[in-house]
Amino acid sequence: MNISVDYDLVIVGGGVVGAALACRLADTTLRVAMIDAHAFNDQTQPHDDDRTLALSYSTRLLLEKLGVWSALSASAEPIHTVHVSEKGRFGTCQLGRQDVGTPALGYVVEAWRLDRVMLERLKTQENVDLLSATRVTAISQTNNDVDLAVSTTDDRLSAIRCRLLVAADGSHSSIRKMTGVHAKHTDYKQTAIITVAQTERPHKNKAYERFTPQGPLAILPLHDGRCSIVMTVDAADKAIVSSTDTEFIKTLHAQFGYRQGRFLSIGKRTAFPLYLVQSETQFTGRTVFIGNARRSLHPVGGQGFNLALRDVDTLATCLLKDAPHLLGDSTQLTQFTQMRQTDQNRTTDLTDGLARLFREGAEWLGPVRAFGLISLDFSPWARRIFSQQMMGMHHFSRDKNGTKRLP
Ligand SMILES: Cc1cc2nc3c(=O)[nH]c(=O)nc-3n(C[C@H](O)[C@H](O)[C@H](O)COP(=O)(O)OP(=O)(O)OC[C@H]3O[C@@H](n4cnc5c(N)ncnc54)[C@H](O)[C@@H]3O)c2cc1C
Repeated sequence: MNISVDYDLVIVGGGVVGAALACRLADTTLRVAMIDAHAFNDQTQPHDDDRTLALSYSTRLLLEKLGVWSALSASAEPIHTVHVSEKGRFGTCQLGRQDVGTPALGYVVEAWRLDRVMLERLKTQENVDLLSATRVTAISQTNNDVDLAVSTTDDRLSAIRCRLLVAADGSHSSIRKMTGVHAKHTDYKQTAIITVAQTERPHKNKAYERFTPQGPLAILPLHDGRCSIVMTVDAADKAIVSSTDTEFIKTLHAQFGYRQGRFLSIGKRTAFPLYLVQSETQFTGRTVFIGNARRSLHPVGGQGFNLALRDVDTLATCLLKDAPHLLGDSTQLTQFTQMRQTDQNRTTDLTDGLARLFREGAEWLGPVRAFGLISLDFSPWARRIFSQQMMGMHHFSRDKNGTKRLP
């Protein structure tokens, strides 16, 4: 059967980034399809992982703009302070919400909840079609259109034509391969292990980033009183993911100490091998890459989704400001690329630098790092600048009352 449909814009990949773009384009005149190889994570399905996301304050403002924050806020735990330390060194630094003058430095949410609230919003949108269990098998681009050959489990569709194709299909992006765009892979030779834990003492909205010789360890507050844990280890030590609960808790104490009292219980562990993946270009023809399909970052500092959401916001602004016939035009995509370059490079350099700084380098760098943390702790100005970068607040401006606003 040969069934073909037309859209203005097709998003391939219904993960958090693709769904965020679809929400941003909801209620517009654009006809949008979001397609995913899998079924969408809706209310009827159990969630299958404990991934959490640390959202910056700027991301909260953008999620408000997408119309999903009100449904998410009750389960988004605010971060009031972040404690930064290095294992085996003296210097520590504490960043507080008072350093930046926002109600919270950020929020922690379970990724499946974010997925779910965005999907619920999209289901009610007339201009957005959700096509699950759909795979793109071939792409051809002309000056005016993109033609997609697709396969579905029930043969309900075989071809889609659109004016702009957005690849949000993750770090192994098949759209990148089909359009001949190369990606640079840097192997950190590290694995991130994520889990949740119950601690003896209440978290009091405090997050920890602790640098260890194996890599960074983040402990983040959750809305149900537990803590989310992202422990980075050498790839060679990834067997720790299958250690017993008692052994894992022992390792946690060895890396983190007893700042939260004892770890009383621990959840299922999931491992993610860590790479920096960067596509060689932001767009090719009428295809633009966003989220992990464009850049997959080291999780230190929790920057990946936050950066991608700022890209989504700017992309949507560029697409919506021009006359409809210019959708996907190279001038439009060049403008988007230029507008996002500085933030993308700065955030990539920051996470890559942090991932390496505390792990590599000569012995003399240890005292320098300790001095850096102490200096940061003593300088309100340096703390503000550092926090603003981590929170993505350079993307925002203040109004006359001093409140941060979207541009
Ligand atoms: C351990 C860890 C912790 C992290 N913590 C944070 C954090 O605290 N804060 C933060 O901001 N970021 C964090 N990140 C980064 C964040 O997880 C990513 O930025 C984000 O998940 C990227 O989402 P995405 O939608 O681009 O890709 P994905 O989540 O990979 O989604 C891709 C989607 O595309 C679909 N797909 C794939 N191939 C096809 C195909 N051929 N056809 C159709 N559909 C397809 C998939 O089914 C999937 O739904 C973390 C990352 C890791 C690894």
